[in-house]
Amino acid sequence: MTKVSIGLRGWRFEEAEVFDESGAFRPLTEMPPDTRDRIGRLMAIIDNPCDACWLIHGEEEKQRCRPAAVVYGEPLREVVLCDTHEADFLYWFREEGGRDLVGKRTFQNAFHQWFADGGRAPDGYAGVEHIETDPDLVPEPSREEPTSSVHETPSREPTRTAGSGDDDELVSLSEEEQESLDIDLDDLDV
Ligand SMILES: [Zn+2]
Repeated sequence: MTKVSIGLRGWRFEEAEVFDESGAFRPLTEMPPDTRDRIGRLMAIIDNPCDACWLIHGEEEKQRCRPAAVVYGEPLREVVLCDTHEADFLYWFREEGGRDLVGKRTFQNAFHQWFADGGRAPDGYAGVEHIETDPDLVPEPSREEPTSSVHETPSREPTRTAGSGDDDELVSLSEEEQESLDIDLDDLDV
């Protein structure tokens, strides 16, 4: 089985559950419930601004926020981040107790609170500079201009992005850390 990211890095899907033999996107109704929930949520957030940028600039200056490049956490408790702020999230996840909150309701809020209180990765943490100088390393889906409603669900089909191999070039969770995030929704207190 091959795991692929779609649209944003971070969440990964079994390729065979999402795409049919010819590579076409399967109808949501044909997907396992967990996959369907996650794909549905991904479609809703794929054009969101980075959470951390949003905390800095606020709703009134949302146009200054960078677009999301990566998503971590569980649907509805996810954190979406631009390439730059991913380093802050990774620092929080590894060093500030974020890992302990995987699957918990407070996962998203705890990161937001930490960041809003000034929490940041140390300068140079996990090769941030590399990302800043080469932001186009990971292919992005084509983005439309922002529409009037942020809640509008994109009607277009998601674009498959690079396979996991390309992630090695970036600040990114290790395989082990990814596995700890790839938890089953059935295990959650929902
Ligand atoms: Zn950001």
